[in-house]
Amino acid sequence: MMEKRRIAILGSTGSIGTQALDVIRRHRDLFEVELLTANNNSRLLTEQAIEFEANNVVICNEDKYREVADALQPRFIKVFAGMQSVCDLVASDSIDIVLTAMVGFSGLRSTVAALEAGKTIALANKETLVAAGAIVTGLARSRNVPILPVDSEHSAIFQCLQGSFGARLEKIHLTASGGPFRCWTKEKIAKAGRDEALNHPRWNMGSKVTIDSATMMNKGLEVIEAKWLFGIEPERIKVVVHPQSIIHSMVEFEDGAVIAQLGHPDMREPIQYALSYPDRLTLDNRKLDFAELGQLTFYNPDTDRFPALSLAYSAIGKGGNMPCIMNAANEVAVEAFLNGKTGFYDITRIIEETMDGVDFVKEPDLDTIYQTNNEALARAGEILKKHIS
Ligand code: MG
Repeated sequence: MMEKRRIAILGSTGSIGTQALDVIRRHRDLFEVELLTANNNSRLLTEQAIEFEANNVVICNEDKYREVADALQPRFIKVFAGMQSVCDLVASDSIDIVLTAMVGFSGLRSTVAALEAGKTIALANKETLVAAGAIVTGLARSRNVPILPVDSEHSAIFQCLQGSFGARLEKIHLTASGGPFRCWTKEKIAKAGRDEALNHPRWNMGSKVTIDSATMMNKGLEVIEAKWLFGIEPERIKVVVHPQSIIHSMVEFEDGAVIAQLGHPDMREPIQYALSYPDRLTLDNRKLDFAELGQLTFYNPDTDRFPALSLAYSAIGKGGNMPCIMNAANEVAVEAFLNGKTGFYDITRIIEETMDGVDFVKEPDLDTIYQTNNEALARAGEILKKHIS
């Protein structure tokens, strides 16, 4: 029986954060909420802090500090503001696991702070591994702390590897739903707007990752994430389109044996497994009925219609700060697309041009990564302006 675990959720008001709290709500005897942080959603953060009796909360947007502080002061919940407070508080002795559920590169600083303090990480913020995989995994190794995957595919791989006793991993088969444009022609995809791209057929996720799924950049980011989490060369990571999203990923060993993890898509399962690992807990999710499923189908990804996947393989092939450049450009381009400022294929065009337009560094340290990110954001911004005008 597991001992009670004290959890910090960075990004508690987002899609992963709220689903993590749903897991905790059903297992209040096993988890205690120590710290909740949010960027802007002061109202939901306040409600969560009250419901879960969090000890500390941070609202990153300092303009909203007063509002949150006034609401929580009668309950003796300590309220802080700003990103530096997140970095200070994750190091606290009263935290066992830090769930990193923020969106994008902005999660890197606090993830590094948590690792430096020797905290177990439940990692949902894939961009931190994409931008700084060598540094983040190196830090985890040196502090001897695990990084437990929350991303459904990586959780699947991790689950498939339980009991493999260090057997060499021959291949990873990373499944992709194919997103909302899986069956669309290139001409039709080129004209797709925000609402069509946000209409994901299988997974209920935040808007950034949903657009990344539509371009398939999400799968590209996940290839890079898998490389760092499982120490496997990208050539051994095969993306396979599997529209039903029932198999969440597979591992293949030297003898050709393939092990898969299956379930109906529900992010609470991988979140819960990361929080309870190595134990398993009950979950009120929909269970599989194989006869009802009938059949599962698989296809090779089409990199002509979805060029983002090739960009990601090329970025990780080049290594150094190139995945960081790619990630920054993607963040700029996705935001522009969400705001209706660019077309769908401009996203990958902006990324490709930015990858060519920022200085390459083979072995970047953390400062270089922050600098690269800033340079790539600026460069992508300039390229974006050019595409709009
Ligand atoms: Mg995923």
